[in-house]
Amino acid sequence: QPTTCIVVGMAGSGKTTLLQRINAYMHEKEVDGYMINLDPAVANVPYGVNIDIRDTVNYKEVMKQYGLGPNGGILTSLNLFATRFDQVLSFLESKEKLENVFIDTPGQIEVFTWSASGSIITTTLAASFPTVLLYVVDTPRTVAPATFMSNMLYACSILYKSKLPFVMAFNKADIVDAEKPISWMTDFEAFQEELLAHESMSSELVRSMSLVLEEFYNHFTAVGVSAVTGEGMPELFEALAAARAEYYADYKPALDKTI
Ligand code: GDP
Ligand code: MG
Repeated sequence: QPTTCIVVGMAGSGKTTLLQRINAYMHEKEVDGYMINLDPAVANVPYGVNIDIRDTVNYKEVMKQYGLGPNGGILTSLNLFATRFDQVLSFLESKEKLENVFIDTPGQIEVFTWSASGSIITTTLAASFPTVLLYVVDTPRTVAPATFMSNMLYACSILYKSKLPFVMAFNKADIVDAEKPISWMTDFEAFQEELLAHESMSSELVRSMSLVLEEFYNHFTAVGVSAVTGEGMPELFEALAAARAEYYADYKPALDKTI
């Protein structure tokens, strides 16, 4: 069974560009991959896409027809697509030899992570396939302790909502070294030092938060990657393989118990 990887992250974190890189990497390594685009509003998908929400729903038409703004249009398009997701599922099940399925989600993270259709798509996939969440971080925007903390809190809320295995990709490592923010998850002292250097009104809150998040940090692997240069791809695929194993060890048994 293929690993299905749902790619989420803040708008502009580089989900789509990273999928382009991942797709190229899979071609190079002759790994069988399948790409699904669930962003109805994307102008141009820069990778060979196998299933595209834009073939089924026209987001501009949806906006017009239902009198919606851009966000409502994206959400409604996703809802319409979710009603037919069983077709995607049976299609994936019919494919043999497929190793990886990657799923791109709308630019605005909450459209997918906090919507009914996002939940339906996620739980439906996870009921049939080993499913992993890939959380993409915009590293250059996450190097200040306070923004780092708010990004981690958001990731934390998604992890505990979905309960799925989780991999965090610190993207744009070509601009800013990802090692430092990644080290903050294991090295409390290093984070404290950084916090002192950025002393602000919120420092005390951020300091306490970092203690609270220690438990969260134990639950996933973080890797530094660059969608532009391709660095970190082998490490990313290793982390995804480990997350797949975690699905079978933890998520699946818990799911089977509830059925
Ligand atoms: P999405 O909204 O998460 O799908 O983000 P996009 O893939 O559309 O990327 C947003 C912007 O970040 C684009 O201008 C990309 O060219 C840029 N970008 C994405 N990944 C990288 C990266 O690894 N390095 C650099 N330097 N820029 C990147
Ligand atoms: Mg995108």
